[in-house]
Amino acid sequence: MIKYLSEDRCIQCNLCVKVCPTSVFDKVADHFPTISRQEDCQTCFLCEAYCPVDALYVSPMLDNTNEPLTVTPEESAMLGSYRQAIGWGKGRSSTASLDMTHILRDLVEDDAGPRS
Ligand code: SF4
Ligand code: SF4
Repeated sequence: MIKYLSEDRCIQCNLCVKVCPTSVFDKVADHFPTISRQEDCQTCFLCEAYCPVDALYVSPMLDNTNEPLTVTPEESAMLGSYRQAIGWGKGRSSTASLDMTHILRDLVEDDAGPRS
């Protein structure tokens, strides 16, 4: 679930507002977006992946909205870590070729026959 937006890093590009499939963020004129509907977050990591300045942290473990929208020092070091892990961003290389989930798909197809 989305946990934090760094006001220090945010350049107010509103990409996170655009890519979020469940409209968690609200655009604010001349301001960074607000996390307005945290409870609607699906932990898809799209906002963190698209943020060009690593200003977002999506926590894979957080599943309730009772925690404040702040980060511990350890979590602060995780800002943009998903984007980094998938190799998005200047000077990084995509890690898509390392993805092994196609093996699961092949196993399912072997079991149930190919998808039409
Ligand atoms: S994508 Fe990142 S920089 Fe752009 S508005 Fe969202 S948090 Fe700020
Ligand atoms: S993780 Fe996905 S659903 Fe959650 S705020 Fe980011 S883009 Fe929206």
